[in-house]
Amino acid sequence: MLFTPTWYKFNRQSLSTLKENIEVVRAKISKASEKAGIKSDEIKIIAVSKTIPPEILNQTLELGISEFGENKVQEFLGKFEKVDSKAKFHMIGHLQTNKVKYIFDKVSSIQSIDSIKLASEINKRAETKSIIVNGLIQIHTAKEETKFGLDESELEDFMNSISEFQNIKFSGLMTIGTFTEDEKEIRRCFTVLRELKEKNSSFKTENCDLKELSMGMTSDYEIAIEEGATILRIGTAIFGSRRRVN
Ligand SMILES: *Cc1c(COP(=O)(O)O)cnc(C)c1O
Repeated sequence: MLFTPTWYKFNRQSLSTLKENIEVVRAKISKASEKAGIKSDEIKIIAVSKTIPPEILNQTLELGISEFGENKVQEFLGKFEKVDSKAKFHMIGHLQTNKVKYIFDKVSSIQSIDSIKLASEINKRAETKSIIVNGLIQIHTAKEETKFGLDESELEDFMNSISEFQNIKFSGLMTIGTFTEDEKEIRRCFTVLRELKEKNSSFKTENCDLKELSMGMTSDYEIAIEEGATILRIGTAIFGSRRRVN
């Protein structure tokens, strides 16, 4: 696969800015968790590193963050080899079935599973290598029509059809909240996800136990914490703003 870097316009920030950004994020997480009565060390930060060059990821590793989120297969593959093997990567973007083969054995989770077809392909690939892929089911909660994910009402049927996918461990739900300033609307999205988890808490099978809630980005992670997020996906607040060139 031909790989063209998309990050050459990345604003290189100094190491001290990166360090400060991480400190600010950590402080906000601990404040929001305290307010919500949760232990902040139970919340995982995924640094969303799309468009960010590999050397910055290596610096981030040194600063104590080792989990990264990528949303494009080609970009991830180009970076993967250049980043220290201590790093763990999560696929958080829409994944086409024909690209599963490139990444299934390189990522720590695939958070964007939103169809039986995709789950089936991931399972088939994982089976050939006798590995278990950690998967999250993406739910569409936002008002925007363009976003991916299962409809809330489709989850039950989906869960009833995944028992055959024994090489995937379905460990939680993921969503992207509505892109808006309206806090009530953002919170509604996260509440939907939390309630889906609660509703399905008794559905525990060999390959499905929905414990994780992956929700909350730079603009809304504090709300997500209040609604029970266990995984935050934060890009801009850590790396600064992105300028994707394609
Ligand atoms: C880009 C992205 C994020 C992070 O967005 P920021 O606003 O930069 O924190 C989180 N989740 C997904 C799925 C993304 O694509």
